[in-house]
Amino acid sequence: MLKENLLKVQENIRIACEKAGRDVSEVTLIAVSKTKPVSMLKEVYDAGIRQFGENKVQELTEKEEQLPKDIRWHMIGHLQRNKVKYIIGKTALIHSVDSLRLAEEISRQSTKQQVISDILVEVNIAGEESKFGISNQEAIALVSEIAALPGIHIRGLMTIAPFVSNGEENRAYFRKMKELSVDIMKQNIDNVNMDILSMGMTGDYTVAIEEGSTMVRVGTGIFGERSYNI
Ligand SMILES: *Cc1c(COP(=O)(O)O)cnc(C)c1O
Repeated sequence: MLKENLLKVQENIRIACEKAGRDVSEVTLIAVSKTKPVSMLKEVYDAGIRQFGENKVQELTEKEEQLPKDIRWHMIGHLQRNKVKYIIGKTALIHSVDSLRLAEEISRQSTKQQVISDILVEVNIAGEESKFGISNQEAIALVSEIAALPGIHIRGLMTIAPFVSNGEENRAYFRKMKELSVDIMKQNIDNVNMDILSMGMTGDYTVAIEEGSTMVRVGTGIFGERSYNI
């Protein structure tokens, strides 16, 4: 069942890339496995997926210990500073950096462990009050400040678009994100790359790809609905 879901998602990604005149190799699929048991992750792993996304530190580290070491783990949820130390060296990419203070802690822990941590800056592109992330006006300033820290490397931007029933409703937000990423790239800030644009979830990943996403984070579309009362 999961294999069929996965094939469907991969096919949709292929079609969206074709429509946008992009190569499928430009888009990385992250299987968002939060709340799902290790057995299900194993099934998706066996179907070829090596990139998994989690939104809680403890869940990520527990699953990381139980699954093969060639998995690239993505921290996609809000990250508290006191938990940073548990994931440094275990995550391929932290998508959810939304303050200088958090970046400073990532820098400190990375330096201590002698690693460079790849991160994305999270932008609240729709200005939703319920969401974390900085505004697009604040983005350039924050990127410049973080860029100066040791042990940390900015690879791009991430956004969580509004929850909508029709993904088309988020197209303008995705377009704005792409523009923002190009604007920042043009600043030529040392130690900053804008090669990753993490946007698009189950409801809107094909639209996000058409607008330039390079990483889509798909949970429900692969693993099915989440139940939180387990
Ligand atoms: C849960 C989550 C996703 C996946 O959402 P789906 O709608 O299930 O695809 C993607 N990104 C973030 C940050 C999430 O927390």
